[in-house]
Amino acid sequence: MEASTAVSAVIAAAREILGDRLSVNASVREQHSHGEDTTTPTLPDAVAFVETTEEVSRLLALCHQHGVPVTPFGAGTSLEGHVNPVRGGISLDLSTMKAVLEVNEEDMDCLIEPGVTRQELNTFLRDKGLFFPVDPGSHASLGGMCATRASGTNAVRYGTMREAVLGLEVVLADGRVIQTGGRTRKASNGYDLTRLFIGSEGTLGVITKVRLRLQGIPEATSAAVCQFQSLAAAVETVITVMQTGIPVARIELLDDDQMAACIKYSKLEGFAPIPTLFLEFHGTEAGVKEQAEAVEAIATEFGASGFTWATDAEARSRLWQARHDAYWAAIALKPGHRGITTDVCVPISRLTEAVLGAKKKSEESGLTSCIVGHVGDGNFHCLILFPENEPDGLERAWALDRAIVAEGLSLGGTCSGEHGVGLGKREFLEQEHGPEALAVMRSVKTAFDPRGILNPGKMFRN
Ligand SMILES: Cc1cc2nc3c(=O)[nH]c(=O)nc-3n(C[C@H](O)[C@H](O)[C@H](O)COP(=O)(O)OP(=O)(O)OC[C@H]3O[C@@H](n4cnc5c(N)ncnc54)[C@H](O)[C@@H]3O)c2cc1C
Repeated sequence: MEASTAVSAVIAAAREILGDRLSVNASVREQHSHGEDTTTPTLPDAVAFVETTEEVSRLLALCHQHGVPVTPFGAGTSLEGHVNPVRGGISLDLSTMKAVLEVNEEDMDCLIEPGVTRQELNTFLRDKGLFFPVDPGSHASLGGMCATRASGTNAVRYGTMREAVLGLEVVLADGRVIQTGGRTRKASNGYDLTRLFIGSEGTLGVITKVRLRLQGIPEATSAAVCQFQSLAAAVETVITVMQTGIPVARIELLDDDQMAACIKYSKLEGFAPIPTLFLEFHGTEAGVKEQAEAVEAIATEFGASGFTWATDAEARSRLWQARHDAYWAAIALKPGHRGITTDVCVPISRLTEAVLGAKKKSEESGLTSCIVGHVGDGNFHCLILFPENEPDGLERAWALDRAIVAEGLSLGGTCSGEHGVGLGKREFLEQEHGPEALAVMRSVKTAFDPRGILNPGKMFRN
């Protein structure tokens, strides 16, 4: 069947299933043509707003039968062109699947639908003494976070989506529905399909339920900010803290440009635009005090110029809101500029070389870039700002991005610690994994999606 005929057949049949939740409206299609990225948007032929697993299953069976592409869409906050439906077809919007189906307080787990955001889940959990720790700085959906293997500021203590997900319900490309994992904290019972779908970016199946591991709200929390005269001193402090085994809950680096941006955007008072660490400690009152004192001693050894405490909840939340808004603060720093962000992650012992190397390359490029990072995990972002109206602006930014990734790889790191591959990082996969491992990944894709309908064009270059 010709492509356009196949799409028309799917749209007609999907309308029977979804009624007016199958939209061909131009502005709805435009909203689903991109995420938070700089790739050239591509319109899907239609957008399907699904509400049940059965609807997803029937829709996928149809698209499989007709060979029509399907691109799952959570909240559209991904940064590498993940949701751009480069081959058209259906954008499958799961944001309306928002039920919290179970919370098992005694076992500290819950079952949710994929459209729930982490903020919504935490609001739901607030009076149960539990919280969900994985916290990207966006209003991402938990389905999207599973699909990108997301993490955030708390990952240094609580892990990423890889550790947080106990099991999944997934609709396969041909419409079959499978359950993976379970409710136990560990299992040694066959191939780990859950982990295969975590980070699969909508290319292997559509996640329709997620069972998450929850954490108890700690008895005591305190946050601190310390500032340094040099970027090297700030990074060396992080490395020593991690090597000493202090169980910090958060340890985030902001370089001078990022700090200047945050001071302006979030009206942070009392701080200088110099390299800065934001820290948080969780535990008992005594444990938190002990951790904080140990970190303060290390920071002082590296010449930290100020150690400011934020113990009350309001001051803490102002501080972390500023950290979470760092991306928007950087974008606002230079009007008429847009940004792309690197996501290099290196072994902690190589972090100084990686961060200082990135800063030097940014300065040499003549572009402004703000460095911010989950440095306790060896992960940092260079938000590269480029002039929107200069024809080669974006290409200069990509050249800098590539140079920073190349250095990260040469230090034993990865091109992406948390954002994923999408379109933007495809070129690094072979270099990072080697041709044989990449060939195995391709055969996994073919086994799950023989007709190549799920988010085609992503992850692999062809
Ligand atoms: C300001 C800002 C800050 C950010 N900070 C962080 C951060 O700290 N850490 C981090 O990890 N990321 C961060 N991100 C990136 C982004 O928020 C994450 O990648 C997030 O996990 C994407 O979730 P989403 O719901 O928006 O997914 P989408 O963008 O909608 O989709 C992402 C990918 O997942 C697939 N997908 C979505 N839902 C499903 C599903 N139910 N089943 C199968 N596949 C699906 C899509 O096809 C796509 O490939 C940030 C982004 C912004 C804009």
